Amino acid sequence: MCHRFLYLIMFVLPVLFVAQATALEHPATYNNQGVLAYKAGKYAEAVSYFEKAYRKAPNSSVVCRNLCNAYQNEANEYVERGEFSKAIRYLESAVDVDSKNASPFIQLGSYYLRTDKLELAIQRLEEAITIKPGDVDAHEFLGQAYYMDNDLSSARAQWDYVLEVAPDRPGLRDRYEKAFREESVEYDFNRWKSRHFRISYPQDVPNSMRAGVFSILDRAYVNIGRKFGGIYPPPPIHVILYSAAQFSEATQLEEHVGAVYDGKIRAPLTDKEGNWLPDDELERRMTHEYVHVVVRHITGKNVPWWVNEGLAESMSKSLSAQEIEQLRRYFSDTPSFSLKALESNQLNQLAPSDLRMAYLQSHAAVDLLWNRYGRSKMLGFLRALGNGLEYEDAFRTIYHRNLASIERDLLTYYR
Ligand SMILES: [Zn+2]
Repeated sequence: MCHRFLYLIMFVLPVLFVAQATALEHPATYNNQGVLAYKAGKYAEAVSYFEKAYRKAPNSSVVCRNLCNAYQNEANEYVERGEFSKAIRYLESAVDVDSKNASPFIQLGSYYLRTDKLELAIQRLEEAITIKPGDVDAHEFLGQAYYMDNDLSSARAQWDYVLEVAPDRPGLRDRYEKAFREESVEYDFNRWKSRHFRISYPQDVPNSMRAGVFSILDRAYVNIGRKFGGIYPPPPIHVILYSAAQFSEATQLEEHVGAVYDGKIRAPLTDKEGNWLPDDELERRMTHEYVHVVVRHITGKNVPWWVNEGLAESMSKSLSAQEIEQLRRYFSDTPSFSLKALESNQLNQLAPSDLRMAYLQSHAAVDLLWNRYGRSKMLGFLRALGNGLEYEDAFRTIYHRNLASIERDLLTYYR
């Protein structure tokens, strides 16, 4: 499970009432039973005792804080199992009972951020900063939420502060520089939005082209959502359109890369000579990137490269006769073939022709899995990844096969 954007809570020792509490239904009795359960790591049990104490003594700051801490730990355990919506319910209760405590607001904001509910994330993180101005976690998360919401200058203001007081925050310097690079390209872009998408684009893009991109995206939203059996990521989904030159300046990707999804869909509308891309090419690229949006929505970022790219390729086009022939030649000449080698990001790693082959192999592998075992297995596999399972374990659990046997099947199929 990727914890980069999750707030890791501290273990806070709960407070006992020291006064003699012997009456069975006395709030202090419930509180102290809750403390015992909490210390034993039984948070669900602690929650139920503290809730009883809270019902009898709603104004006790000790009970409120203990109940809040128990909710936060229970939420943390749900998130460990990938169950964000349950975790969020606990935290909404936590901020209600202990509304002067910034910690549950920050935790809640980070979970909304992780589940792409940007408006709610921003609201909760801004509240956290009102309660506890200067909290570095809250400012960093809020910067990330603004960034995801494509408000680059607000993001920069938050991160400027964080980098000033805590220059060694892991990964933040890189994200800051990336945002700054994008801002310098996109500062005068026009903006337009639909129900699901927000698009930023250079001023010289004709309205008809912008409208064309919207209808491609709306179609992808419906068609890909349906292919996955009804998966529809929440709005807004950000799409940034560029010229080919702006695209490589903002993303630093090599020029053979056709588009990218890094939390926002980024795509050039022109080739490097400055000609507008033809509609079918644009549709293929946008659909490919939109599949990444859906995959990320299900898995977080816990997905091997070949699965992610294979799905994006498989759902945006079919293998051509020529590509099938290329695969035949490749599999015949290659005695051993490894999906493991295609686990991590291959962009800017492989030469263009090797990268092309890596996409073809991923496409072929996903086609094989989808055609032979169906959608529900694939969805089960992706959900297992979303719950934080290591990918070979998830694969074995869902498909009852190991990767080596799928590699053998691919070789047999194409030879
Ligand atoms: Zn891709």
